[in-house]
Amino acid sequence: MDKRFVYADNAATTQVSEEVLNAMLPYFREGYGNASSIYAMGREAKKAVELAREKVAQAIGADASEIYFTSCGSEADNWAVKGICERLAKKGKKHIITSVFEHHAILHTCQDMEKKGFEVTYLPIDENGLVSPEDVKNALREDTALVTIMFANNEIGTIQPIAEIASVCKEKGVIFHTDAVQAVGNVEIDVHAMGIDMLSLSGHKIHAQKGVGALYVRKGIALPNLLHGGAQERNKRAGTENVPAIVGLGKAIEIACGNIPAKREKVTAMRNRLIDGILKLSHTRLNGDRDKRLPGNCNISIEGIEGESLLLLLDMNGICASSGSACTSGSLDPSHVLLALGLKHEVAHGSLRLSIDENTTDEDIDYILQVVPMVVERLRAMSPLWERIVKGQEIR
Ligand code: PLP
Repeated sequence: MDKRFVYADNAATTQVSEEVLNAMLPYFREGYGNASSIYAMGREAKKAVELAREKVAQAIGADASEIYFTSCGSEADNWAVKGICERLAKKGKKHIITSVFEHHAILHTCQDMEKKGFEVTYLPIDENGLVSPEDVKNALREDTALVTIMFANNEIGTIQPIAEIASVCKEKGVIFHTDAVQAVGNVEIDVHAMGIDMLSLSGHKIHAQKGVGALYVRKGIALPNLLHGGAQERNKRAGTENVPAIVGLGKAIEIACGNIPAKREKVTAMRNRLIDGILKLSHTRLNGDRDKRLPGNCNISIEGIEGESLLLLLDMNGICASSGSACTSGSLDPSHVLLALGLKHEVAHGSLRLSIDENTTDEDIDYILQVVPMVVERLRAMSPLWERIVKGQEIR
Protein backbone atom coordinates (compact mmCIF):
# COMPACT_ATOMS: atom_id res chain seq x y z
CA MET A 1 0.00 0.00 0.00
CA ASP A 2 1.45 3.36 -1.02
CA LYS A 3 1.39 6.06 1.61
CA ARG A 4 -0.67 9.12 0.66
CA PHE A 5 -1.75 12.37 2.29
CA VAL A 6 -5.45 12.48 3.17
CA TYR A 7 -6.94 15.52 4.84
CA ALA A 8 -10.02 14.32 6.70
CA ASP A 9 -10.40 17.11 9.24
CA ASN A 10 -12.49 19.66 7.37
CA ALA A 11 -14.66 20.26 10.43
CA ALA A 12 -11.54 21.68 12.11
CA THR A 13 -10.60 23.87 9.17
CA THR A 14 -10.44 23.80 5.39
CA GLN A 15 -7.89 24.69 2.77
CA VAL A 16 -8.34 28.15 1.21
CA SER A 17 -9.51 27.45 -2.32
CA GLU A 18 -7.80 28.76 -5.42
CA GLU A 19 -10.84 30.84 -6.37
CA VAL A 20 -11.04 32.38 -2.90
CA LEU A 21 -7.34 33.18 -2.85
CA ASN A 22 -7.53 34.76 -6.30
CA ALA A 23 -10.48 36.91 -5.22
CA MET A 24 -8.53 38.09 -2.16
CA LEU A 25 -5.13 38.78 -3.69
CA PRO A 26 -5.85 42.14 -5.35
CA TYR A 27 -6.85 43.60 -1.98
CA PHE A 28 -3.43 42.96 -0.45
CA ARG A 29 -1.38 44.78 -3.08
CA GLU A 30 -3.12 46.96 -5.67
CA GLY A 31 -6.39 47.56 -3.83
CA TYR A 32 -5.13 47.98 -0.30
CA GLY A 33 -7.17 51.10 0.45
CA ASN A 34 -9.01 51.67 3.70
CA ALA A 35 -12.71 51.03 3.09
CA SER A 36 -13.52 54.23 4.99
CA SER A 37 -11.36 56.50 2.79
CA ILE A 38 -13.16 58.74 0.34
CA TYR A 39 -10.77 58.50 -2.63
CA ALA A 40 -11.25 55.94 -5.38
CA MET A 41 -9.06 53.20 -3.88
CA GLY A 42 -10.96 53.43 -0.59
CA ARG A 43 -14.30 53.44 -2.37
CA GLU A 44 -13.25 50.35 -4.31
CA ALA A 45 -12.44 48.56 -1.06
CA LYS A 46 -15.79 49.62 0.39
CA LYS A 47 -17.56 48.35 -2.72
CA ALA A 48 -15.82 44.99 -2.36
CA VAL A 49 -16.85 44.73 1.29
CA GLU A 50 -20.46 45.55 0.45
CA LEU A 51 -20.51 43.04 -2.41
CA ALA A 52 -19.23 40.38 -0.01
CA ARG A 53 -21.96 41.38 2.45
CA GLU A 54 -24.56 40.84 -0.26
CA LYS A 55 -23.11 37.43 -1.06
CA VAL A 56 -23.21 36.35 2.58
CA ALA A 57 -26.78 37.63 2.89
CA GLN A 58 -27.89 35.88 -0.27
CA ALA A 59 -26.36 32.58 0.83
CA ILE A 60 -28.54 32.46 3.95
CA GLY A 61 -31.66 34.27 2.75
CA ALA A 62 -30.98 37.52 4.63
CA ASP A 63 -30.76 41.18 3.64
CA ALA A 64 -27.30 42.68 3.33
CA SER A 65 -28.23 45.19 6.04
CA GLU A 66 -28.62 42.27 8.46
CA ILE A 67 -25.01 41.03 8.11
CA TYR A 68 -22.15 42.15 10.36
CA PHE A 69 -18.62 40.94 9.66
CA THR A 70 -16.65 39.64 12.63
CA SER A 71 -13.17 38.23 13.20
CA CYS A 72 -14.43 34.63 13.56
CA GLY A 73 -17.34 32.39 14.45
CA SER A 74 -16.49 32.57 18.14
CA GLU A 75 -16.76 36.35 18.06
CA ALA A 76 -20.16 36.15 16.38
CA ASP A 77 -21.35 33.69 19.06
CA ASN A 78 -20.03 35.85 21.91
CA TRP A 79 -21.55 38.98 20.46
CA ALA A 80 -24.97 37.39 19.96
CA VAL A 81 -25.22 35.95 23.46
CA LYS A 82 -23.61 38.78 25.43
CA GLY A 83 -25.24 41.51 23.37
CA ILE A 84 -28.80 40.24 23.68
CA CYS A 85 -28.39 39.32 27.34
CA GLU A 86 -26.88 42.68 28.26
CA ARG A 87 -29.82 44.46 26.63
CA LEU A 88 -32.62 42.25 27.92
CA ALA A 89 -31.24 42.03 31.46
CA LYS A 90 -32.37 45.65 31.79
CA LYS A 91 -35.91 44.40 31.23
CA GLY A 92 -35.53 41.72 33.90
CA LYS A 93 -34.93 38.90 31.42
CA LYS A 94 -32.04 36.90 32.80
CA HIS A 95 -32.59 33.38 31.54
CA ILE A 96 -30.85 31.66 28.61
CA ILE A 97 -31.69 28.33 27.00
CA THR A 98 -28.98 26.40 25.21
CA SER A 99 -27.93 22.77 24.87
CA VAL A 100 -25.27 20.65 26.53
CA PHE A 101 -23.46 19.90 23.28
CA GLU A 102 -22.85 23.40 21.93
CA HIS A 103 -19.41 24.53 20.83
CA HIS A 104 -17.39 26.11 23.64
CA ALA A 105 -17.84 29.52 22.00
CA ILE A 106 -21.43 29.26 23.21
CA LEU A 107 -21.01 27.11 26.32
CA HIS A 108 -18.24 29.18 27.88
CA THR A 109 -20.06 32.39 27.03
CA CYS A 110 -23.17 31.08 28.75
CA GLN A 111 -21.07 30.06 31.77
CA ASP A 112 -19.72 33.60 31.87
CA MET A 113 -23.28 34.92 31.82
CA GLU A 114 -24.06 32.68 34.81
CA LYS A 115 -21.31 34.47 36.72
CA LYS A 116 -23.06 37.71 35.82
CA GLY A 117 -26.32 36.59 37.39
CA PHE A 118 -28.00 34.79 34.48
CA GLU A 119 -29.65 31.43 34.83
CA VAL A 120 -28.89 29.02 32.01
CA THR A 121 -30.88 25.93 31.06
CA TYR A 122 -28.68 23.36 29.29
CA LEU A 123 -31.02 21.11 27.34
CA PRO A 124 -30.03 17.47 26.88
CA ILE A 125 -29.65 15.71 23.56
CA ASP A 126 -31.21 12.35 22.79
CA GLU A 127 -29.21 9.21 22.01
CA ASN A 128 -29.01 10.30 18.36
CA GLY A 129 -27.56 13.70 19.20
CA LEU A 130 -30.69 15.75 18.61
CA VAL A 131 -32.28 18.54 20.64
CA SER A 132 -36.05 18.31 20.99
CA PRO A 133 -38.18 21.38 20.10
CA GLU A 134 -40.59 20.16 22.80
CA ASP A 135 -37.83 20.46 25.39
CA VAL A 136 -37.15 24.01 24.19
CA LYS A 137 -40.85 24.82 24.51
CA ASN A 138 -41.02 23.43 28.03
CA ALA A 139 -37.92 25.34 29.11
CA LEU A 140 -39.16 28.74 27.89
CA ARG A 141 -40.02 31.20 30.68
CA GLU A 142 -41.36 34.70 31.02
CA ASP A 143 -37.82 35.89 31.74
CA THR A 144 -36.08 34.00 28.90
CA ALA A 145 -33.88 36.44 27.01
CA LEU A 146 -32.41 34.13 24.40
CA VAL A 147 -32.48 30.61 23.03
CA THR A 148 -29.26 29.51 21.32
CA ILE A 149 -29.09 26.06 19.74
CA MET A 150 -26.47 25.07 17.18
CA PHE A 151 -27.55 24.25 13.63
CA ALA A 152 -25.17 21.31 13.22
CA ASN A 153 -22.79 19.84 15.73
CA ASN A 154 -19.06 20.08 15.05
CA GLU A 155 -18.19 16.67 16.49
CA ILE A 156 -21.01 14.32 15.59
CA GLY A 157 -22.46 16.36 12.72
CA THR A 158 -26.10 16.06 13.75
CA ILE A 159 -28.41 18.60 12.13
CA GLN A 160 -30.97 20.03 14.51
CA PRO A 161 -34.67 20.74 13.82
CA ILE A 162 -33.89 24.45 13.61
CA ALA A 163 -37.10 25.70 11.95
CA GLU A 164 -39.21 23.92 14.59
CA ILE A 165 -37.13 25.32 17.43
CA ALA A 166 -37.30 28.81 15.91
CA SER A 167 -41.07 28.51 15.62
CA VAL A 168 -41.44 27.54 19.28
CA CYS A 169 -39.38 30.60 20.26
CA LYS A 170 -41.34 32.89 17.98
CA GLU A 171 -44.63 31.78 19.58
CA LYS A 172 -43.31 33.08 22.90
CA GLY A 173 -41.58 36.14 21.41
CA VAL A 174 -38.12 34.94 22.47
CA ILE A 175 -35.06 35.70 20.33
CA PHE A 176 -33.54 32.64 18.68
CA HIS A 177 -29.85 32.43 17.77
CA THR A 178 -28.13 29.54 16.03
CA ASP A 179 -24.44 28.76 15.67
CA ALA A 180 -24.36 27.66 12.03
CA VAL A 181 -20.56 27.55 11.70
CA GLN A 182 -20.65 23.87 10.64
CA ALA A 183 -23.92 24.03 8.74
CA VAL A 184 -23.31 26.85 6.28
CA GLY A 185 -22.39 25.43 2.89
CA ASN A 186 -23.64 21.97 3.83
CA VAL A 187 -27.31 22.58 4.57
CA GLU A 188 -29.69 24.94 2.76
CA ILE A 189 -30.40 27.85 5.10
CA ASP A 190 -33.03 30.55 4.69
CA VAL A 191 -33.03 32.59 7.87
CA HIS A 192 -36.24 34.43 7.08
CA ALA A 193 -38.19 31.34 6.01
CA MET A 194 -36.87 29.36 8.98
CA GLY A 195 -37.60 32.12 11.50
CA ILE A 196 -34.00 32.46 12.68
CA ASP A 197 -33.34 35.76 14.47
CA MET A 198 -29.55 35.56 14.67
CA LEU A 199 -26.98 33.26 13.08
CA SER A 200 -23.19 32.91 13.38
CA LEU A 201 -20.93 31.67 10.61
CA SER A 202 -17.21 31.36 10.00
CA GLY A 203 -15.03 31.55 6.88
CA HIS A 204 -12.42 28.90 7.56
CA LYS A 205 -14.90 26.03 7.52
CA ILE A 206 -15.86 26.81 3.92
CA HIS A 207 -12.50 27.34 2.22
CA ALA A 208 -12.01 30.98 3.20
CA GLN A 209 -9.18 32.04 5.47
CA LYS A 210 -9.10 31.74 9.25
CA GLY A 211 -10.07 34.82 11.21
CA VAL A 212 -13.19 36.02 9.44
CA GLY A 213 -16.84 35.38 10.21
CA ALA A 214 -20.21 37.03 10.27
CA LEU A 215 -23.25 37.51 12.44
CA TYR A 216 -26.71 37.81 10.92
CA VAL A 217 -29.09 39.88 13.04
CA ARG A 218 -32.70 40.11 11.90
CA LYS A 219 -33.87 43.64 11.15
CA GLY A 220 -35.60 45.06 14.21
CA ILE A 221 -33.40 43.35 16.80
CA ALA A 222 -31.33 45.88 18.69
CA LEU A 223 -27.88 44.49 19.36
CA PRO A 224 -25.47 46.58 21.45
CA ASN A 225 -22.08 47.55 19.97
CA LEU A 226 -19.36 44.97 20.18
CA LEU A 227 -16.38 47.29 19.75
CA HIS A 228 -16.40 51.04 20.26
CA GLY A 229 -14.37 53.28 18.00
CA GLY A 230 -14.86 53.97 14.32
CA ALA A 231 -18.13 53.76 12.44
CA GLN A 232 -17.44 50.44 10.71
CA GLU A 233 -20.16 47.79 10.46
CA ARG A 234 -22.85 50.44 10.79
CA ASN A 235 -21.37 51.72 14.07
CA LYS A 236 -21.62 48.34 15.77
CA ARG A 237 -18.15 46.88 15.42
CA ALA A 238 -15.30 49.34 15.18
CA GLY A 239 -12.03 48.46 13.49
CA THR A 240 -10.70 48.93 9.98
CA GLU A 241 -12.26 46.22 7.83
CA ASN A 242 -10.15 43.20 6.92
CA VAL A 243 -10.99 43.68 3.25
CA PRO A 244 -9.16 40.65 1.75
CA ALA A 245 -10.63 38.30 4.36
CA ILE A 246 -14.14 39.69 3.90
CA VAL A 247 -13.85 39.45 0.11
CA GLY A 248 -12.64 35.85 0.55
CA LEU A 249 -15.59 35.02 2.79
CA GLY A 250 -17.98 36.44 0.20
CA LYS A 251 -16.45 34.32 -2.53
CA ALA A 252 -16.26 31.20 -0.36
CA ILE A 253 -19.87 31.35 0.77
CA GLU A 254 -21.07 32.00 -2.77
CA ILE A 255 -19.29 28.83 -3.94
CA ALA A 256 -20.16 26.74 -0.86
CA CYS A 257 -23.87 27.55 -1.01
CA GLY A 258 -24.10 27.52 -4.79
CA ASN A 259 -24.03 23.75 -5.22
CA ILE A 260 -25.22 22.19 -1.98
CA PRO A 261 -27.40 19.36 -3.46
CA ALA A 262 -24.70 18.06 -5.83
CA LYS A 263 -22.02 18.34 -3.19
CA ARG A 264 -24.24 16.63 -0.62
CA GLU A 265 -24.90 13.68 -2.92
CA LYS A 266 -21.24 13.17 -3.71
CA VAL A 267 -19.93 13.65 -0.17
CA THR A 268 -22.70 11.60 1.49
CA ALA A 269 -21.94 8.61 -0.71
CA MET A 270 -18.26 8.73 0.28
CA ARG A 271 -19.14 9.33 3.92
CA ASN A 272 -21.49 6.32 3.99
CA ARG A 273 -18.78 4.12 2.56
CA LEU A 274 -16.46 5.37 5.28
CA ILE A 275 -18.99 4.72 8.05
CA ASP A 276 -19.94 1.27 6.79
CA GLY A 277 -16.31 0.34 6.29
CA ILE A 278 -15.21 1.32 9.80
CA LEU A 279 -18.29 -0.18 11.43
CA LYS A 280 -17.18 -3.55 10.07
CA LEU A 281 -14.64 -3.53 12.90
CA SER A 282 -16.02 -5.18 16.01
CA HIS A 283 -16.95 -3.12 19.07
CA THR A 284 -17.57 0.12 17.20
CA ARG A 285 -20.54 2.47 17.14
CA LEU A 286 -21.57 5.43 15.04
CA ASN A 287 -22.08 8.55 17.12
CA GLY A 288 -25.01 10.72 16.09
CA ASP A 289 -28.01 10.16 13.85
CA ARG A 290 -27.16 8.39 10.62
CA ASP A 291 -29.39 10.53 8.39
CA LYS A 292 -29.83 13.88 10.13
CA ARG A 293 -26.13 14.42 9.80
CA LEU A 294 -23.69 16.65 7.94
CA PRO A 295 -22.71 15.00 4.64
CA GLY A 296 -19.01 14.87 5.47
CA ASN A 297 -19.16 13.80 9.12
CA CYS A 298 -18.14 10.35 10.32
CA ASN A 299 -17.76 9.96 14.08
CA ILE A 300 -17.20 6.47 15.37
CA SER A 301 -16.22 5.15 18.78
CA ILE A 302 -13.76 2.30 18.59
CA GLU A 303 -13.60 0.35 21.80
CA GLY A 304 -10.26 -0.67 23.25
CA ILE A 305 -8.18 2.15 21.79
CA GLU A 306 -7.05 5.63 22.85
CA GLY A 307 -8.12 8.39 20.47
CA GLU A 308 -4.80 10.24 20.80
CA SER A 309 -2.75 7.13 19.91
CA LEU A 310 -5.04 6.47 16.97
CA LEU A 311 -4.54 10.02 15.69
CA LEU A 312 -0.77 9.73 15.97
CA LEU A 313 -0.67 6.48 14.02
CA LEU A 314 -3.03 7.87 11.40
CA ASP A 315 -0.79 10.92 11.11
CA MET A 316 2.22 8.66 10.60
CA ASN A 317 0.26 7.17 7.71
CA GLY A 318 -0.53 10.60 6.25
CA ILE A 319 -4.11 10.90 7.49
CA CYS A 320 -5.28 14.05 9.30
CA ALA A 321 -8.23 13.33 11.57
CA SER A 322 -9.58 14.29 14.96
CA SER A 323 -10.75 12.51 18.06
CA GLY A 324 -12.91 15.29 19.46
CA SER A 325 -13.36 18.95 18.64
CA ALA A 326 -10.20 20.69 17.44
CA CYS A 327 -10.51 23.24 20.18
CA THR A 328 -10.28 20.63 22.94
CA SER A 329 -7.74 18.34 21.37
CA GLY A 330 -5.07 19.79 23.65
CA SER A 331 -6.97 18.42 26.62
CA LEU A 332 -7.32 14.84 27.77
CA ASP A 333 -10.88 15.32 29.01
CA PRO A 334 -13.32 13.24 27.01
CA SER A 335 -15.47 15.24 24.64
CA HIS A 336 -18.50 16.85 26.31
CA VAL A 337 -20.51 16.04 23.18
CA LEU A 338 -19.84 12.30 23.36
CA LEU A 339 -20.48 12.25 27.10
CA ALA A 340 -23.78 14.05 26.46
CA LEU A 341 -24.71 11.19 24.11
CA GLY A 342 -24.35 8.88 27.10
CA LEU A 343 -21.03 7.28 26.19
CA LYS A 344 -18.79 5.95 28.93
CA HIS A 345 -15.53 7.88 29.41
CA GLU A 346 -13.31 5.17 27.98
CA VAL A 347 -15.56 4.78 24.92
CA ALA A 348 -15.66 8.55 24.33
CA HIS A 349 -11.85 8.57 24.53
CA GLY A 350 -11.62 6.08 21.69
CA SER A 351 -13.61 8.10 19.19
CA LEU A 352 -12.51 9.06 15.71
CA ARG A 353 -13.90 11.99 13.74
CA LEU A 354 -13.22 12.00 10.03
CA SER A 355 -14.66 15.02 8.25
CA ILE A 356 -14.45 14.87 4.48
CA ASP A 357 -15.62 17.29 1.83
CA GLU A 358 -16.03 17.69 -1.92
CA ASN A 359 -12.26 17.61 -2.41
CA THR A 360 -12.02 14.13 -0.90
CA THR A 361 -11.68 11.35 -3.49
CA ASP A 362 -12.80 7.73 -3.63
CA GLU A 363 -9.12 6.78 -3.48
CA ASP A 364 -8.81 8.73 -0.23
CA ILE A 365 -11.70 6.73 1.24
CA ASP A 366 -10.12 3.45 0.05
CA TYR A 367 -6.89 4.47 1.72
CA ILE A 368 -8.55 5.41 5.03
CA LEU A 369 -10.41 2.10 4.98
CA GLN A 370 -7.14 0.25 4.59
CA VAL A 371 -5.23 2.19 7.23
CA VAL A 372 -7.82 2.48 10.03
CA PRO A 373 -8.36 -1.31 10.55
CA MET A 374 -4.61 -1.88 10.44
CA VAL A 375 -3.91 0.79 13.03
CA VAL A 376 -6.83 -0.25 15.24
CA GLU A 377 -5.63 -3.84 15.22
CA ARG A 378 -2.15 -2.71 16.24
CA LEU A 379 -3.43 -0.54 19.09
CA ARG A 380 -5.83 -3.18 20.35
CA ALA A 381 -3.04 -5.75 20.37
CA MET A 382 -1.20 -3.54 22.86
CA SER A 383 -4.23 -2.61 24.97
CA PRO A 384 -4.95 -4.25 28.33
CA LEU A 385 -8.42 -2.69 28.12
CA TRP A 386 -9.11 -4.50 24.87
CA GLU A 387 -8.33 -7.84 26.49
CA ARG A 388 -10.99 -7.16 29.09
CA ILE A 389 -13.46 -6.04 26.46
CA VAL A 390 -13.13 -9.18 24.34
CA LYS A 391 -13.75 -11.21 27.47
CA GLY A 392 -17.28 -9.93 27.54
CA GLN A 393 -17.95 -6.24 28.15
CA GLU A 394 -20.26 -4.65 25.61
CA ILE A 395 -19.86 -1.20 24.05
CA ARG A 396 -22.63 1.31 24.73
N1 PLP B 1 -19.00 27.03 16.42
C1 PLP B 1 -18.78 25.82 15.89
C2 PLP B 1 -19.90 24.86 15.79
C3 PLP B 1 -17.50 25.47 15.44
O1 PLP B 1 -17.29 24.26 14.93
C4 PLP B 1 -16.47 26.42 15.56
C5 PLP B 1 -15.09 26.07 15.17
O2 PLP B 1 -14.66 24.94 15.30
C6 PLP B 1 -16.77 27.68 16.09
C7 PLP B 1 -18.04 27.95 16.51
C8 PLP B 1 -15.72 28.73 16.21
O3 PLP B 1 -15.45 29.29 14.96
P1 PLP B 1 -14.07 30.10 14.78
O4 PLP B 1 -13.00 29.09 14.71
O5 PLP B 1 -14.25 30.84 13.48
O6 PLP B 1 -13.97 31.01 15.93
